[in-house]
Amino acid sequence: MGSPWDFAHPEAAQTISFAGTTETYDDDGVERTRWVPEWNVLAVPYNMMVPGYHNGRVNTLRLWRAVATNAFDLHTFNSGDYVQSVRAQTFAENISKVLYPEDSTPQGKELRLQQQYFFVAASIADFIENVLPDDFDLDDLPERVIFQLNDTHPVIGVPELMRVLVDEKKLEWDAAWAITQKCFAYTCHTLLPEALEVWSVDLLGRLLPRHLEIIYRINDEFLLEVRERFGDDEMLIRNMSIIGEHPYRSVRMAYLATVAGSKVNGVAELHSQLLRDNVLKDFAEMWPDKFTNVTNGVTPRRFLRLANPELSSLITEALGAGWTVDLERLRGLEALADDADFRERFAAVKASNKRRLSRVLEARGEAPLDDGHLLDVMIKRLHEYKRQTLKVLHIVSTYEGIVSGRLDVDDVQARTFLFGAKAAPGYGMAKRIIHLINAVGEVVSADERVKGKLKVLYPANYNVTLAESIIPAADLSEQISLAGKEASGTGNMKLALNGALTIGTDDGANVEIRKLVGDDNFFLFGMSEPEVEALWAEGYRPADFYQEDDDLRRAIDLIASGAFSNGDRTVFEPLVSNLLYDDRFMALADFRSYLDAQDRVDAAYADQDAWVRSAILNVARSGYFSSDRAMRDYLDRIWHATPVN
Ligand SMILES: *Cc1c(COP(=O)(O)O)cnc(C)c1O
Repeated sequence: MGSPWDFAHPEAAQTISFAGTTETYDDDGVERTRWVPEWNVLAVPYNMMVPGYHNGRVNTLRLWRAVATNAFDLHTFNSGDYVQSVRAQTFAENISKVLYPEDSTPQGKELRLQQQYFFVAASIADFIENVLPDDFDLDDLPERVIFQLNDTHPVIGVPELMRVLVDEKKLEWDAAWAITQKCFAYTCHTLLPEALEVWSVDLLGRLLPRHLEIIYRINDEFLLEVRERFGDDEMLIRNMSIIGEHPYRSVRMAYLATVAGSKVNGVAELHSQLLRDNVLKDFAEMWPDKFTNVTNGVTPRRFLRLANPELSSLITEALGAGWTVDLERLRGLEALADDADFRERFAAVKASNKRRLSRVLEARGEAPLDDGHLLDVMIKRLHEYKRQTLKVLHIVSTYEGIVSGRLDVDDVQARTFLFGAKAAPGYGMAKRIIHLINAVGEVVSADERVKGKLKVLYPANYNVTLAESIIPAADLSEQISLAGKEASGTGNMKLALNGALTIGTDDGANVEIRKLVGDDNFFLFGMSEPEVEALWAEGYRPADFYQEDDDLRRAIDLIASGAFSNGDRTVFEPLVSNLLYDDRFMALADFRSYLDAQDRVDAAYADQDAWVRSAILNVARSGYFSSDRAMRDYLDRIWHATPVN
């Protein structure tokens, strides 16, 4: 039935074109280029009101739906070919049907590029035609707007703005480029090379022929600049070119964004440093001032005030109102960490949040929580670099220790391991890991020998709504990516802000969380990023770690034996081989350090007074991770603007 808060504005629709050819023509003695597209769709805007928090303002979020320009071919319909008569409509509407369509097939890739261009072109056209006044001087555009490229998905907006300025508004190329460079800035969100988007020249040229020409010219002029600066270093030229040649000729969207953007930022201190040192090193040498950092933040209104009403009341009682818009005020809780009465009330809130989560889980048809368990949560997208598998190895190792009798069940801290994660539809290995978590969970949760001690929950359909129930209840926050792989993480911030202690690697924003909450209130483990590099350089052989660590070997052997797959050894064989002979994310290398850190967790949890004190200090010292602070950093460092209020 749609959403009651989507307001359609068909009168403000934009026509978005695709494919076709380009041609030059004589425009009163000036040679110009125009795009002669082959087909188009309509972009219909839907406005959504976004009210500010107690500030008297409402912003408009404008979303776009793709619809066919000729809704319906009546002639074809009357001839009886009903499928053909709605083909154009179905084709057009697919463009905005699913956000980020799966791109493991050529058709999926094409749809995804269509979607990226569709959203970006509609927004730019709408801005220029409907937001700017009619007589606006486009030379002043940088004073009026900045398009913050949120990852590489909207980078096709760079050649699109150039096309609008040069082909449609008839500006000189150099003037248009000067404007464009000031109107864009780029936020990079990854460190994984495979996540840096590239588009094959073949596809881009077919779908957006004029944009490909523009990209080539931007690249030609950029590479001339590189030659002027660094000489004719052909290796450097190949490395920095916006056009890559291997394994096929393609446009490197992150490079295009870096060349076009006035600023380039990473999303945590470590991430921004690794961008400068590795991923975009040559660009950082060329333009050191272009590179900056804005550490991510999370909104305290959703992730503390709304999600955790009981803790919010306790905080307001202690500190007064106002902390929701000035989160550094949480510092005032530090003194209360030593107040036994406050600790008791804080612990009661955590217990109440666990009961609430348990009811939410039951209402969703899941198993409830057990009393007295440490709630150990790993909630984030399923990805090998995040290392859900390392968490599974810890669970299997603890389980194996108990059933083999090497661990005394009475010495084990009762824990519920709660996973929340979805896999991308085309990511096979991630789906195998989901299968493994569920398989281990079924066996462990049902085994009488560990009953009451270990429980694994993996509720279906993890999303923000479920996160809002899990986060306030969590005791332990698992942030265990391989160092140098997680750009920032934001789940880590949400959990610390709600009084969960982190067990984590020195990665992403974990580094900053640990610095702020203090080493005594954070369980650090694993290799640092330089240690990871050193191990790669020396030659990483995961099987050596398997051979040398008895606990690790027993855990992996148990999975390989079919213990979690009804004796079928083939089910998890690809996963086990992957760990033993590839292990790109070094789960085996960090296993021992992780288990040691988990032992420290158990010991710390045994002293409830000290644990609750640490939890309160986590809340008190996480105010920095407010999205308000992040927005102010964007205003100061990138947009050079001031807040409206
Ligand atoms: C915050 C959040 C994330 C991001 O979690 P990370 O641990 O930073 O990867 C993912 N999914 C949902 C539903 C979230 O709320």
